[in-house]
Parts: sequence; C-alpha cells; structure tokens
Amino acid sequence: MSEAARTSPTTFPAKAFAAPSPTGALAAHSIARRAPRPQDVQLEILFCGVCHSDLHQVRNEWKEVMPTVYPCVPGHEIVGRVTKVGTAVKKFKEGDIAAVGCMVDSCRVCSSCKAGEEQYCENMMTLTYNSEDKILGGVTYGGYSDSIVVDENYVLRVPNGLDPAGTAPLLCAGITTFSPLHHWKVGKGQKVGIVGLGGLGHMGLKFAHALGAHTVLFTTSAGKTEDAKRLGADEVVISKDADAMLKHAGSFNFILDCVSAQHDINAYLNLLRRDGTVCLVGAPEKPLPVASFNLLFGRRSLSGSAIGGIRETQEMLDFCGEHGITADIEKIRIQQINEAYDRLLKQDVKYRFVIDNSTLQ
Ligand code: NAP
Ligand code: ZN
Ligand code: ZN
Repeated sequence: MSEAARTSPTTFPAKAFAAPSPTGALAAHSIARRAPRPQDVQLEILFCGVCHSDLHQVRNEWKEVMPTVYPCVPGHEIVGRVTKVGTAVKKFKEGDIAAVGCMVDSCRVCSSCKAGEEQYCENMMTLTYNSEDKILGGVTYGGYSDSIVVDENYVLRVPNGLDPAGTAPLLCAGITTFSPLHHWKVGKGQKVGIVGLGGLGHMGLKFAHALGAHTVLFTTSAGKTEDAKRLGADEVVISKDADAMLKHAGSFNFILDCVSAQHDINAYLNLLRRDGTVCLVGAPEKPLPVASFNLLFGRRSLSGSAIGGIRETQEMLDFCGEHGITADIEKIRIQQINEAYDRLLKQDVKYRFVIDNSTLQ
C-alpha cells in the first residue's frame, strides 16, 4: 500500500522525490504530512538546496552512525511560503516567507537545548529527514517535497530582500560554516583557512571575509582560483602543490575543513600556529588518520562542529540580511537531481544546486 493511501484525516498527501535504496535513482514518490497541530506551521516549499550530506545519506555512507531508512526523501535547506498556521502560532502568518534547516525538533529540556544548542541535544534532535518521526511514526521526510509541517520553534524567519533561492543553502551550508567561525572567534588580525570550495566552503569564504580575517582558500581544483578570489579569498593555495603548502607552515589561527571525501588532514594540522585549531565540518564516509606529533608540537587542536542552534541560525540569517549575503547557486528541476549528485561527486558545482520545487507539480 502506498503512503498516500494510508493517509488518515490527520494527514495529507505530499509530492516528493525519494531514493528507493542506496543505489537506486531518486524518483517521484507520495508521502504523508501531518495536518498542522496548534503549534505547527505548514509551508509550501519553494526551494531546497542540495547538500552533500543528502548524497552521503541517500547512499547510506554513514550507515554506522545514521543508517538510512528507505524510501528516503532528503533535503534540509528549505525556503517556503507559509500556507497554514496552527491556532497557537505566534511568529508566522499565512503568506510569510520562512525557512527550515537540518532539524525539526529536539527534547527542549537537556542542558544543550536549554543553552540554545539544540543541534547537540543529549536526547538526539529530530533531523529534518531520516530521523524517527515521533508524531506520525516511521521517519521524517525532507525538503525534496512540495510541503512540510514543522513546529514554529524550529522555523526561521527570512529577512526581507534576500533572494529565496539563494537563501535556501544558508540553512545548512550557511549555519554550518558560520557557527564554528563564531565559536572560535574568527575576525580581524587572524589568518584563517577554508578547505574545499563546494557548498560549505564557498559560504565559509564569504563569512570569513565578512568577519575581517585574512582568508586563504585551499582547493584541489585550480580552475576555481578566480571564483575563490571573487568570493572573498585573499590567497588561494592548490593543495596538491606541496611547496605551496609548505610556505604556509605554522601560520594559521584556524582552518575550517569542508571536504566531503578522504584526504590528508595532517597536511593542514602542520599549517597551524601554536594553539591553532583545525575544525572538521566535512563528514567523509571513512575515518581520517591523524599523526599525533602534528598535535603535540604546537599544542594544536583538531575539532568538529555540527550545524548550529536555532537562535544562532536566526542570527546568521539576520547577518546575511544586513550584509546582503546569499549562496551562489545553480537552479535545477527536481528531475535533474540524479545528475546533480553525479556532478557533486565530480566537484562540478558552482556552488550549490538548488531545486525549484515548483517542478514537482
Ligand atoms: P560539496 O559541495 O560537494 O563540496 C565538497 C568540496 O570538497 C568539493 O567541492 C572539493 O573542493 C572538495 N573535495 C571533494 N572531494 C575531494 C577529495 N577527494 N580531496 C580533496 N578535496 C575534495 O559538499 P558540501 O555540501 O559543501 O559538504 C561538504 C561536507 O560537509 C560533506 O561531507 C557534508 O556531508 C558535510 N556537512 C557537514 C555538516 C555539519 O553539520 N558538520 C553540515 C553540512 C554538510 P575543491 O574542488 O575546492 O577541492
Ligand atoms: Zn546539509
Ligand atoms: Zn535536548
């Protein structure tokens, strides 16, 4: 029986694209969404960014940590128009442009939730897709869909004047790079590296530049040099060039690693000054080896960071509104999603694919 056929009066059918298995192509699929509860906001999804995490998850590359439940409807960079609000909703009204990122709920009572760091909820946040759906049962379904229903506490306001399609990637690529740059207090007088010029990396460049740091982009793609400078890099280093890397040894305060695949992080640890930090936001399928001497000499740190809390995500959107920052995007039809995944793997994206969700009709 299809999910649409199983809908009850408390649900309604939505059009979506789903992956049927780790190897099958994404295709049209019908899902059930819950009818809004008093605290819920219903959105017609206008645009959804395509994150490399969607690809990792669809192909079950994170099976040890977050095994994928099929059919899987990915998408956590969502901008939409409010079509319905529950009776208790205060922050949104019909017709507003609003956004949803990587999480749609959390326990709200643990110390992380109370600190506004819901992404580190000790009882595990509810992710926008492939998380246990505590209301309908089964798993949550993401933004490769024509609608979504979310508790208003996990819905973000989109500042006036920001292009909705270019805003969608801010909900993951934006906050995931903004949050660590703030946590490690990146700013003027510091030398900061961004590794990998993809969706996350290009937002990291824009933010590091806007925060006033001397920003260096490390890339494996020589062809991205001019774009990197336009996006805010003061210097560009081709990471395959060992001599070029060596020139920067011991000089960085902070390096944000946005790479989606296997690579040598020791090469970046060696570029840190005393007490410097490499922060991983990239989440490759396999563990990355670390040579301990690269940490011991210089008391260097290797760290990681996951998305950002709801309050910080709103701060990031407001910062983007004030500074006129959005992602550089290539709009696609939902029917091009499988081709977009193939291109992501070839590092051929400038710099985020964004689905025009009206093509689901
Ligand atoms: P993306 O657009 O595909 O960009 C990844 C970039 O990494 C590529 O453009 C490329 O940059 C570089 N790269 C790819 N393969 C490489 C290789 N073999 N060696 C060296 N560099 C390589 O991906 P994304 O959407 O930005 O996501 C990046 C990673 O962050 C993914 O693993 C994703 O799952 C993860 N992520 C984590 C969080 C979090 O909360 N921590 C949130 C979102 C995403 P160059 O061409 O410039 O070398
Ligand atoms: Zn993401
Ligand atoms: Zn919690």
